[in-house]
Amino acid sequence: MSEVLVLVDHVGGAVRKPTLELLAIAKRIGSPSAVLIASADQTAGAVEKLKAFGAEKIYVVDDAQIKGYLVAPKAEVLQQLIEKTSPAAVLIVSGYEGKEIAGRLAIKTGSGLITDAVDVDADGTTTQSVFAGNFTAKAKVTTGTPIITVKPNSAAPEETAGAGAVEEFAATISDAAKKAQIVASQPRQASGRPELTEAAIVVSGGRGTGGNFEPIEGLADALGAAVGASRAAVDSGWKPHSFQVGQTGKVVSPQLYVANGISGAIQHRAGMQTSKTIVAVNKDEEAPIFELVDFGVVGDLHAVLPKATEEINAR
Ligand code: FAD
Repeated sequence: MSEVLVLVDHVGGAVRKPTLELLAIAKRIGSPSAVLIASADQTAGAVEKLKAFGAEKIYVVDDAQIKGYLVAPKAEVLQQLIEKTSPAAVLIVSGYEGKEIAGRLAIKTGSGLITDAVDVDADGTTTQSVFAGNFTAKAKVTTGTPIITVKPNSAAPEETAGAGAVEEFAATISDAAKKAQIVASQPRQASGRPELTEAAIVVSGGRGTGGNFEPIEGLADALGAAVGASRAAVDSGWKPHSFQVGQTGKVVSPQLYVANGISGAIQHRAGMQTSKTIVAVNKDEEAPIFELVDFGVVGDLHAVLPKATEEINAR
């Protein structure tokens, strides 16, 4: 069975959930091989996790030559692994970095590239949600090694152990790939909440909050959810752009999305309409968001959310 390379997305050796989702997708296509670019002290924990979630093989690449540089060296690592393994596909998590690596890799290998897939079939056919979520496109790479970036929350991780055979891979990084260096990086502000695009539950607020996000944050914390915002809330300066959900913000697809004081404009829907269950709280029963919801509450969010939060916390 052909290998399917999965580039591991991790923070200090802690493998992020979207990579585990990619391993589940890789299993449909072939034999999942994780590509772990990390320092020696980060490897052991990551290897255990990748094995537990189905990696048959784990290529470990020492990041000594790569650390401190932008994405080009990672594309070279993958290019060399493609030459070595002739995989059935390469899967990468969709994100700013992932898509840049994928683009560079496609050029280097003369391969077809599909970005932002929300599903991938066993034969490599991908599903994409396009034109602000108004159309679903099916596409398949016909040239070279299929290189596919997949959005977080597109599959459920499967905790079925693989062989997890570790192979050290010594990549050769060219000087050309080291032309851009990271000079400073700021750690993410730790909010204690899950990352927006990875969260199983998202609680969002819009203009209807009037700038008071306390009820949103209270409910989010009761549910262990991430907090999101509409563009109106972001443009008003109530939340940074990193919270924005929608066409020009982040695309989320959680199990549960709770929209509060959000009218449901098409550009907001583009970022959340693939959520599995949608709940809205809006004081206007004619608000377009109600066309989309599984459950709707007509009411003032400042009254409804604290009650819901109290109820949840009491359980
Ligand atoms: P509004 O449309 O003003 O709706 C506020 C809602 O709150 C109303 O339905 C009202 O009934 C309700 N409300 C008011 N008070 C309360 C209360 N106390 N309790 C309960 N409900 C209350 N928007 C995005 O969100 N994300 C994007 O990425 C995005 N990209 C865009 C890109 C382009 C090119 C353009 C043109 C627009 C984009 N927009 C985006 C903006 C979008 O068109 C809407 O303007 C925006 O989504 C509206 O935000 P809102 O629903 O919070 O505000």
